[in-house]
Amino acid sequence: MKNNPFLDAIEQLEKASKILQIDREELEILETPKKEIHVQIPLKTDDGKLKILKGYRIQHNDSRGPFKGGIRFHPRVDLDEVKALSFWMSIKTAVLNLPYGGSKGGIAVNPKELSANEIEKISRAYVRSVFKDIGPDVDIPAPDVYTNPQIMAWMADEYSVVAGKHVPAAFTGKPVEVGGSKGRDTATAQGGIYVLMEAIKKFKFKKPISVAIQGFGNAGANATEILHFDYENFKIVAVSDSRGAVYNEKGIDVPFLLSHKKETGAVTDFKDAKNLKPEELLELDVNILIPAAMEGAITLENAKKIKAKVILELANGPITKEAEDILLRKDILIIPDVLANAGGVTVSYFEWTQNKSGFYLDEEEIQKMLSKKMQEAYKDVLDLADVYKVDLRTAAYILAISRIIDAQKLKG
Ligand code: NAD
Repeated sequence: MKNNPFLDAIEQLEKASKILQIDREELEILETPKKEIHVQIPLKTDDGKLKILKGYRIQHNDSRGPFKGGIRFHPRVDLDEVKALSFWMSIKTAVLNLPYGGSKGGIAVNPKELSANEIEKISRAYVRSVFKDIGPDVDIPAPDVYTNPQIMAWMADEYSVVAGKHVPAAFTGKPVEVGGSKGRDTATAQGGIYVLMEAIKKFKFKKPISVAIQGFGNAGANATEILHFDYENFKIVAVSDSRGAVYNEKGIDVPFLLSHKKETGAVTDFKDAKNLKPEELLELDVNILIPAAMEGAITLENAKKIKAKVILELANGPITKEAEDILLRKDILIIPDVLANAGGVTVSYFEWTQNKSGFYLDEEEIQKMLSKKMQEAYKDVLDLADVYKVDLRTAAYILAISRIIDAQKLKG
């Protein structure tokens, strides 16, 4: 049975709220999204058939600024998933102290079964369906699972066509050529790695430090590349994508892996590395595990078998609530999604400010600002974890909830 990520999100919220002794009414505002938009996306397929797809935009909270959150194209997209993702966005933007609230969108579809033309059609239709509810000062979408800069370029273009003027700040995660920011493509992985480097200082890992990465898209593949090429003393021993996993105890040949994935579309059947069952990757005896695929990867069933000492959650919600209790009892350090993968929305924020001002920054400036933001957020979370003697996720929630409620109170 599919785990309900929204119920997990509410449990996480209640745990932190108890510590903060928040009023029931204030909690209810956070437990319920402000607006739920359900739309029909009609698709005339290349062979002339009509398909009706379900689309969502959930706007969770905008006490601290416009709603902000990605759009996912995936067959598993449903209301509870998008609600949970929108809630996590409110928490994440508050942890990073960005002037945003949280939202998320999605279409229940398998884009791997669609042509580029069909993907463009549903992207543009989605924008037309939610046009009145989004915009640069209302709700700003970005990429998520199986959406990418090209899709953001189509969506931003459709928005500008309907608006009758250029509005690049209506979407982030665009290609640099159409108003995107330098560093946005790698920001989610890079932001997480900035935090990871701080967090592992207290571990006396034997070098090279071993890493297993689940998911080989924007988050996972960039994490693999960055750790391999930009940092010393790491070896990537296993990676996976939706088709399978590969493992080499001595470290995977990353340049070969990257070209193999490009050529074959898969990470498996790879020289010098053996194929693994996808679930085996999570249970490897490694120093660091990076889930970078979907929610609910680590559950009650496999939590006991996890051997990593540190888990960097580049995916949203990869650990269920029950699994987390087990991992914390095993003293595994979990760097929570609302901090670990917040580099993406942080550089999206830089993109938005660049679009609004018309003044564009170079890669070096973006990296400096991203690193500073991630380190500040990590320090804020760590300080609260110390004060309240809680895990990092609970501390991040305490920080975020206080900021959201303060903003709500000031607005009256
Ligand atoms: P993506 O579409 O670029 O890549 C997803 C990857 O996950 C693909 O390689 C796919 O093959 C793999 N995958 C799917 N199901 C899998 C499974 N069961 N086992 C192993 N691999 C599987 O998506 P992404 O942007 O990298 O997003 C991955 C995660 O990171 C999601 O949870 C997303 O919400 C989160 N995230 C992404 C961003 C961003 O900026 N892209 C920002 C914050 C969080």
